[in-house]
Amino acid sequence: MPDDMDRATALTEALTADAIQAARPRGEGSPTCVVCGEDIPARRRETMPTARHCVRCLEAMEKARAR
Ligand SMILES: [Zn+2]
Repeated sequence: MPDDMDRATALTEALTADAIQAARPRGEGSPTCVVCGEDIPARRRETMPTARHCVRCLEAMEKARAR
């Protein structure tokens, strides 16, 4: 089984969770990545207020989308 399959599935689930979270925003606490739970740096939120993924997960998704 190629790893890409599992990764694609995980990314799809992550995107679904992203949509759900976007529809039901939490309070303005400390936002975390919806994929891995890492804190999203405030500096990153300033440049991209809607960011709900850490840089690492975002890059992974962008790579997946580019294919
Ligand atoms: Zn992440």
